Amino acid sequence: MAPPSLPPNVTVVRHPLAALKLARLRDERTPPREFRRNAQELAVLLAFAATHDIETEVEKIRTPLAETDGAKLVRPIVVVPILRAGLGMSEAILPFLGDAAVGHIGMRRDETTHLPSSYYFNAPAQLAEADVLVVDPMLATGRSSADSVAKLKQAGARRIRFICFLAAPEGIAHLSAQHPDVAIFTSAVDLRLDERAYIVPGLGDAGDRYFGTLAV
Ligand code: URA
Repeated sequence: MAPPSLPPNVTVVRHPLAALKLARLRDERTPPREFRRNAQELAVLLAFAATHDIETEVEKIRTPLAETDGAKLVRPIVVVPILRAGLGMSEAILPFLGDAAVGHIGMRRDETTHLPSSYYFNAPAQLAEADVLVVDPMLATGRSSADSVAKLKQAGARRIRFICFLAAPEGIAHLSAQHPDVAIFTSAVDLRLDERAYIVPGLGDAGDRYFGTLAV
């Protein structure tokens, strides 16, 4: 059966190295230390894909031998993890992003209604002129990501990319409908959400597995 068609703002990063890391994240036997390492490495691979067309301009530099063309960013980069599961992703990608600033958005979801509510928002001043990378491992219902993007836009953000490990069709549909201008990068699109709004087959609770806070 052909996979369902995706909106044009969605990129599924089908690199074999990303697939290997995603498999380790999905495996229920993967312990926290290995989960964290694979999550950080997958975040870097996805960030590379998500920034492939970020604008640079020529800067003249001198090597020890001659003058040549170097590249510098046209705009600042701002990374915004959605707490708490996005924190591991932002820490992993920051070393590759020079002087990127970091914002934070705290979202919790009601376990019965699955509706998100915001408990924290902090964004750096350069949001309006920046390329903004919002990171959250799981695009499930899409409500907390769409609300987060709306808050960032209210605060001035205009160029937003969203990076996740896994997306549910429901999450893609909701985020894309609310914010068609936001490019979504994911390593896989899964089948569906279950009754608790977890992604199936998914990888479980990304935050609990990353931070080792699963109930025993
Ligand atoms: N958040 C998670 O951590 N996992 C899911 O499957 C959905 C939301």
